[in-house]
Amino acid sequence: MTYALVINSGSSSIKFQIVDPNSAASDDPFVSGLVEQIGEPNGRITIKHAGEKHATQLPIANHKVGLETSMAMLNELGCGPTQVEITAVGHRVVHGGMVFSVPELINDQVVEMIRDLIPLAPLHNPANIDGIEVAREILPNIPHVAVFDTGFFRDLPPAAALYAINAEVAAKNQIRRYGFHGTSHEFIAGQVPAMLDRPASTVNQIVLHLGNGASASAIKNGHPIDTSMGMTPLAGLVMGTRSGDIDPGIIFHLARNGGMSIDEIDNLLNRQSGVKGIAGVNDFRDLHRMISEENENAWLAYNVYIHQLRRLIGAYMIALGRVDAITFTAGVGENDAATRADALAGLAHYGIKIDKERNELRSGEPRQISTDDSTVRVFVVPTNEELAIAQKATALAAKLG
Ligand code: ADP
Repeated sequence: MTYALVINSGSSSIKFQIVDPNSAASDDPFVSGLVEQIGEPNGRITIKHAGEKHATQLPIANHKVGLETSMAMLNELGCGPTQVEITAVGHRVVHGGMVFSVPELINDQVVEMIRDLIPLAPLHNPANIDGIEVAREILPNIPHVAVFDTGFFRDLPPAAALYAINAEVAAKNQIRRYGFHGTSHEFIAGQVPAMLDRPASTVNQIVLHLGNGASASAIKNGHPIDTSMGMTPLAGLVMGTRSGDIDPGIIFHLARNGGMSIDEIDNLLNRQSGVKGIAGVNDFRDLHRMISEENENAWLAYNVYIHQLRRLIGAYMIALGRVDAITFTAGVGENDAATRADALAGLAHYGIKIDKERNELRSGEPRQISTDDSTVRVFVVPTNEELAIAQKATALAAKLG
């Protein structure tokens, strides 16, 4: 058996998995690990393997120490890079700008190109580069592949990609819609045609990735034509803690009259808004519990969330003209039957009919939740970004031989 190592490196954490690229989306990975509090006195490494959890607490000075210590722990458990065959390392990279659309074999030049994109993702790309650099040092003989969150959406039609702001300013500052969660949208959109028993090039579909971060995409004949996240992942749907689309004038108002700095507004819109901003919680399980206790703010938050979601679904139905499938995925999309039902309630007139029983059935498998006479098929398909990255990295490594 051969595996891929998948690394998702953040500013103070590293998530990693060792994955069989041929496994199913709902399978547990061979190994999953989390390095937390890098640079803090109370670092922590947690590894899950063969149904058991192993945790160590130690100061982790930097990403290199974090990854080296993790690999040593894996080797001790008998599942590390010296014991199992790892044929590729896949790195999640948040921003590929207009430069990268498909996965890229990493060399020094590619690292520099990712570095040049830091102004577009100042929090994410530096952390991704840290992860790439230490992993290349630790595992120099394995091909490393960068998989970009923006890649799938790089060739959006100009009408969807351009913002109606001064063209010179936009060009100078690389302002356009890039879209994010691309690995997930592509992974899900890739599975739907088989469920419809039709070639991908004939399928029009809407994918709703509803996790803590949330985004929607419209895919026409196999190509994305619109997506809800924008130049940054703050745009579009209401999310767990992010506002999604708001009137940009609100930002000027807060700066001029609300006494807030740019950093405070950034924090407000990214971390203190969305469902949490209105209800005080961002987890939909808490939200539903509060709604059942007649908490007014929880009810309002849910309704604002659903309203914005329906607004985007409506927009994409018009953009696509004919919709063959609507698919829910990620934490909320896969688990929250109420959100699915409310997102598509009352649309029988448009050929969208949810089967109540199918929708409420809990399952980790891809499934149809629309009625047999619904002209638009509605699915729940579990996403697995790590598996998708493992598959892409393995495929590119094999191709380059
Ligand atoms: P992330 O964007 O962090 O990858 P996920 O896709 O893992 O997020 O989704 C996490 C969210 O999924 C949680 O915050 C919660 O709102 C929701 N969620 C998870 N399990 C359930 C469940 N059983 N019922 C309702 N919502 C759930």
